[in-house]
Amino acid sequence: MAKIDINSLELNELKEYIMSLGEKPFVAKQIYSWLHVKNAESFDEMTNVSKALRATLGENCAVTTLSVRKKQVSKDGTIKYLYQLGDGNCIETVLMRYEHGNSICVSSQVGCRMGCKFCASTQHGKVRDLTTGEILRQVYKTEKDIGERISNIVMMGIGEPLDNFDNATRFVRMISSPDGKNISQRNISLSTCGIVPKIYELADMNLNITLSISLHATTTELRKKTMPITNAYSVEQLMQACRDYTKKTGRRISFEYTVIHGTNDSDDDARRLAGLLKGMISHVNLIPLNPVDGSPFTRYDDKIIKIFQKKLTDLHINATIRRRLGQDISAACGQLRNENR
Ligand code: SAH
Repeated sequence: MAKIDINSLELNELKEYIMSLGEKPFVAKQIYSWLHVKNAESFDEMTNVSKALRATLGENCAVTTLSVRKKQVSKDGTIKYLYQLGDGNCIETVLMRYEHGNSICVSSQVGCRMGCKFCASTQHGKVRDLTTGEILRQVYKTEKDIGERISNIVMMGIGEPLDNFDNATRFVRMISSPDGKNISQRNISLSTCGIVPKIYELADMNLNITLSISLHATTTELRKKTMPITNAYSVEQLMQACRDYTKKTGRRISFEYTVIHGTNDSDDDARRLAGLLKGMISHVNLIPLNPVDGSPFTRYDDKIIKIFQKKLTDLHINATIRRRLGQDISAACGQLRNENR
C-alpha cells in the first residue's frame, strides 16, 4: 500500500488521521509543528511523540525530503538550489535577499506543459505535478540551509501553479497557517501564464495573495507567437478575468512583461498595454529577458527595457523593472535543471 503523504495534510486532516490511530488531537498538533515549524525530516526527531506512535507513523507515512543536488551562491547573496526529489527528479528553488527580508522562488511542477517560447522550464515538457509537501519542503529545506527565516514567497519557479491548482492553493493555505510558518498571504505572489477558468476558481478561494499575470504581449495574435496558452484564451478573455478577479477580491494584479526587443516593445505595444490596463488597479513589472538556448526570442539589452519603461511612464502607466539578482549565476529558471537532465 502506498504510504500516506503526511507533509501534504492540513492540520484538520492530520488530526483526523492521528485520532483514527487512537491518539488525542493535541498529538497531531505536535507532529504538525515538527513538520511545518521545526522543519523535521524524520519521525525520529519528534522527541515528544511516543516511540510506539513514531514507529506506526514510520510504517504508514512518508516524510517528504529534498536533497541538495547543486547549490550556486551569487556575489549578491542570491542562492540557486537544484533540489532532488524522492523519485530522482530535480527542481529549482531560488533564495533572494532583500532589505525587507528573505524571499524564495518555488517550483510547482517538474517541468511545464505551457510551452512559452522564451522559457527554459518548458523545453522538455511536464514530467509531473509537485505534491503540496514538495512545494512546502523547498521553503523548509532552504530555511534550514541558510539558518534564517523566509518571509516572502513567489510561486514563479518551474511549472505553472494553476495547472497544479489543488496543490498550489493547499500550499498557500498551509504556509500561511498560524500552526505552520505563518507567512502572511500578503507576502505571497502566484504567477500564471493565464489559465482563465482557474483564475475564476482562484478568485473564489478568498486568498489574500498577489496574483501576477505573465502577459508579455498586447494582442491575441502577437501573444500566440510566444505563449501557446493564448490559443485557448484570448487576451480579451484574460483581461476580463483579471478585472473580475480584482472586483471579487479587491486585490491589485501585477502584470509581468518580459521585454523582447523587436517583438513586444514598440510604441504601439506601449499604447495597447496602457489601453488594456485602463481603469484597473494594477502594476506592471518589466522583466529583463534571460536568453535561453534554443529559443527564437533572445533579443535583449539593458537599454531597451528602460526605453520601454519610459514609453509606459509617458502614458501614465506605473512600471518597475525587475532587479536582476544573481547575475553571475544567472541561468534563467529551468536552465540548471536542463543542464542536469
Ligand atoms: N508559469 C508561471 C511561472 C513561470 S516563470 C507563469 O507563466 O507566470 C515566472 C516569470 O518568468 C513568467 O512571467 C515567465 O513568463 C517569465 N520568464 C520565463 N522565462 C523567461 C526568460 N527566459 N526571460 C525572462 N522572463 C522569463
